[in-house]
Amino acid sequence: RIRSEVIPANEIGVKFADIGSLDETKDLLQELVILPLRRPDLFKGNLLKPCRGILLFGPPGTGKTMLAKAIANEAGASFINVSMSTITSKYYGEDEKNVRALFTLAAKVSPTIIFVDEVDSRLGQRKSVGETESTRKIKNEFMLHWDGLMTEPGEGVMVLAATNRPFDLDEAIIRRFERRIMVGLPSIESREMILRTLLSNEKTDDLDFHEIGQKTEGYTGSDLKNMCITAAYRPVRELIQQERLKDKERKKREEAGKGKEEPKEVE
Ligand code: ATP
Repeated sequence: RIRSEVIPANEIGVKFADIGSLDETKDLLQELVILPLRRPDLFKGNLLKPCRGILLFGPPGTGKTMLAKAIANEAGASFINVSMSTITSKYYGEDEKNVRALFTLAAKVSPTIIFVDEVDSRLGQRKSVGETESTRKIKNEFMLHWDGLMTEPGEGVMVLAATNRPFDLDEAIIRRFERRIMVGLPSIESREMILRTLLSNEKTDDLDFHEIGQKTEGYTGSDLKNMCITAAYRPVRELIQQERLKDKERKKREEAGKGKEEPKEVE
């Protein structure tokens, strides 16, 4: 089941260039993730240690998942998106076995990025927020193997996680993220850049990107993408409306034609 979650680097399909703005975040991740995975030889000394855990946090739709995928692609690493449905099982003890299998597989296909989206609800819930016995066991097993990564550098496995609710995260999990990077709402300049990236293959001569950037305060990258899709549908919708109108007129003409049937001759 876990094997089916592995995406090889050449099949990821998202590149840094597809992500608008977020340049500083990309640079930081280049340094923290891509370099250690691509050039582990540079991190063999005592001072330079590769990071084993990075947390991306911020509002939904700001591109955290996209960033994680692009990083794996740029690093030439396999990407494993950990979903709880692949780990949890109805059989006793299987959950822990699945976590073990996850890390064994990650090492086998390394370099690897293990990505845990919504880590607060999947792994890191505080007891007060309602941690169940099953998530506690998964969490402990996960931390055990994660710690193993720290003591065996050069294995080429990193844990990347994302959350919209960093304050709900368990202390023990937070501590294991050596770096926590905020991916916030885009500024006006960033919105403009995201729009330019999203529409890079479209005809946009008559678009005022600056004005749209100004009018979309509070929009995330995901909102901007949805806006572009809705706009792209406009000509399609107009075409459908025109067809409907034509259809109505044709029916009207037919009805009118019926009324004007030749009167029958009366003897
Ligand atoms: P969530 O917390 O809901 O999982 P997220 O922060 O992981 O959200 P993504 O899933 O990466 O956000 O973003 C959703 C979609 O929005 C992406 O697939 C992409 O199409 C678009 N998007 C978000 N940010 C950007 C960006 N900076 N540039 C281009 N597209 C973006």
